[in-house]
Amino acid sequence: MAESPAGQLVFVTTPIGNARDITLRALDVLRAADVLVAEDTRTLRRLLEIHGVPLSGRPLYAYHDHSGDRDRARVRGALEQGLMVAYASEAGTPLIADPGYGLIAAAREVSATITATPGVSAAITALSLSGLPTDQFHFYGFLPSSKGARCKALEGLRPVPGTLVFYESPNRIGKALQDMANTLGPNRAAALCRELTKKFEEVVTGTLADLVTRSATATWKGEIVVLVGAEGAVEPDALDVDEALETALRDQSVKDAVAVVTEATGLPRRQIYQRALEILKDR
Ligand code: SAM
Repeated sequence: MAESPAGQLVFVTTPIGNARDITLRALDVLRAADVLVAEDTRTLRRLLEIHGVPLSGRPLYAYHDHSGDRDRARVRGALEQGLMVAYASEAGTPLIADPGYGLIAAAREVSATITATPGVSAAITALSLSGLPTDQFHFYGFLPSSKGARCKALEGLRPVPGTLVFYESPNRIGKALQDMANTLGPNRAAALCRELTKKFEEVVTGTLADLVTRSATATWKGEIVVLVGAEGAVEPDALDVDEALETALRDQSVKDAVAVVTEATGLPRRQIYQRALEILKDR
């Protein structure tokens, strides 16, 4: 008997707010898949509707954090038959603080190919907007909800030599920031990125102490990413980029001046280069 061809498991990244942040390839896969699997089937149904992708009688199964062997076996069975299975988590990139990990083993058991249609993730979007160094970062995801476990986890992150990235809930944000300030140090540069790609998108920057103070009066609702600079990272707002550029441009080429100030601030090179050109134009 001929062996059936290996199936294909595709992790499909979906938007984190703005429904148009879906890739054309993700839509192709959602159209072509034989079986659709989602953390929340209602959310995927809505996304398909928005983008005019018909379900056309194809099975749509749920697979989430509480899914057991039976749910995995169903996916494995489809892959074993040589089918294409598309998996989407609630939002963003599957497996990034989201379910999907257990499906890797299921797919490997039947030698199915595993691939992904990459796209947005809240962590990466927040890093781009935070103004904190992006050359090295450590993604932690959600801190433990109990204070003791949270502080212990933070203690372990103290020596990490890169920007720390946390997912946080609006109910706990004040307490989490306070614990971060106490454990990591109140002067660390930080950014709170909220409701990214949505109507009330907001990026608040300052030291951890500043954010703790602001959290006492602010109402930070919705979805939140907190980023904390490594020990010694410069708080971008506090550093006078223009002054540093003016000095460097006095006796160095634009390229060298940009390199020196990029190194000193940890800010993106493109941003510093742009500012250098503006300064030169105004001279
Ligand atoms: N898989 C997702 C990703 O790739 O980013 C993350 C899923 S995790 C269950 C949900 C958390 O991600 C939220 O509690 C929040 O911390 C963060 N998040 C998701 N969407 C966001 C957004 N639009 N703005 C800010 N944070 C967001």
